[in-house]
Amino acid sequence: MTAKDTIAAFDVIDGKLAVGGIPVDRLAARVGSTPFFAYDRRLLTQRIALLRQKLPPKINLSYAIKANPMPAVVQHLSSLVDSFDVASTGEMRIALDTPIAADHVSFAGPAKTIAELTQAVAAGITVELESETEARRVIAIGEQLGVRPRVAIRVNPDFAIKGSGMRMGGGPQQFGVDSEIVPQLLAALAKADLDVLGFHVFGGSQNLRAEILCEAQRKTVELVTTLAAAMPTPIRYLNLGGGFGIPYFDKDESLDLDMVGANLHELVDGPIRNNFPEARLVIELGRYIVGECGVYVTRVVDCKQSRGKQFVMVDGGLHHQLAASGNFGQVIRRNYPLAIGNRMNEAATGAANVVGCLCTPLDLLGDSVAVPKVEIDDLVVLFQAGAYGMTASPSAFLGHPPAVEILV
Ligand SMILES: *Cc1c(COP(=O)(O)O)cnc(C)c1O
Repeated sequence: MTAKDTIAAFDVIDGKLAVGGIPVDRLAARVGSTPFFAYDRRLLTQRIALLRQKLPPKINLSYAIKANPMPAVVQHLSSLVDSFDVASTGEMRIALDTPIAADHVSFAGPAKTIAELTQAVAAGITVELESETEARRVIAIGEQLGVRPRVAIRVNPDFAIKGSGMRMGGGPQQFGVDSEIVPQLLAALAKADLDVLGFHVFGGSQNLRAEILCEAQRKTVELVTTLAAAMPTPIRYLNLGGGFGIPYFDKDESLDLDMVGANLHELVDGPIRNNFPEARLVIELGRYIVGECGVYVTRVVDCKQSRGKQFVMVDGGLHHQLAASGNFGQVIRRNYPLAIGNRMNEAATGAANVVGCLCTPLDLLGDSVAVPKVEIDDLVVLFQAGAYGMTASPSAFLGHPPAVEILV
């Protein structure tokens, strides 16, 4: 499985790419304008089914809303996952609008303000403590509200996870409490009126190497076993993080989910059962759940040749889908998969640069991509747009209108 298989997951009807069973030109007519993001409900459902099939039944699946906070997507997922991870009070409100119970919503992230922590404690969600300051604030808020706050400690582990697109654990970090000071924090919390549920360890994001994720999960269980000695009560919550990556580029191989699942089975049936029999076990995933289920659809406004190079110019760009331009955390710019959505059965006749409508050379959506003969009004579809798309892009840059989002 590579990035090309992502395209194959979508149906093609009469030579047209279909999202949710609707050909993309018809979808564009239904939306009434381009560009737009379209998320495929059936693919989302299939993705969760795949995870349920491969991971142990004891594992609770948590959806990290920051990957795609569209309320309809979050509502759809609320019937399929066990819990939500939120990174702001805006995301918290979206989570609380769903049938998922507040005690199955957790709030992680650095620099949570007193106002945000107050909202979280009042809502009864689990606050993932990222520092001693946060712990002090939550205790004071609980006393003020007359509510016993539910907390877990986000631990910055003493090991780093290699191969992550974004590393968020190990070494000095703004995330979490350094593992070596967790025992003293627990001792301080023992005197306070707090419900300390357990631990959360999240080492990084976008990892395609199963053996590294497995090693990280094993080390996480070892670390938590040591830390648990300082817990006054049995651990009731153990969030093993996530970091499952998706293939964005031609050479990326999909994550070996069988290997990750087998490793989790071993951990669940061994050390976790022995040491943490009462823990709710959580794997939290964002992009792995939604990333491959969404496309960004743009319309060709102009085609031109410039000194031997063909340019396909579309009405969208990096202001909606920054990641496809290579400017969201990538070191080397590579092409996201794209297709001419209304010419899926036509063979490539040449190569073109697909560029957006922003007046900057950064707005490059496809560099020398093989395309059939492209005409004005064709629809250029960018894949892997389900996660960190619209909300992770600088939508105000150059003042074009925002993109529409639909769940089909
Ligand atoms: C961002 C984040 C996630 C989601 O990461 P993905 O790569 O989208 O799976 C999960 N947990 C925490 C704590 C995060 O900050």
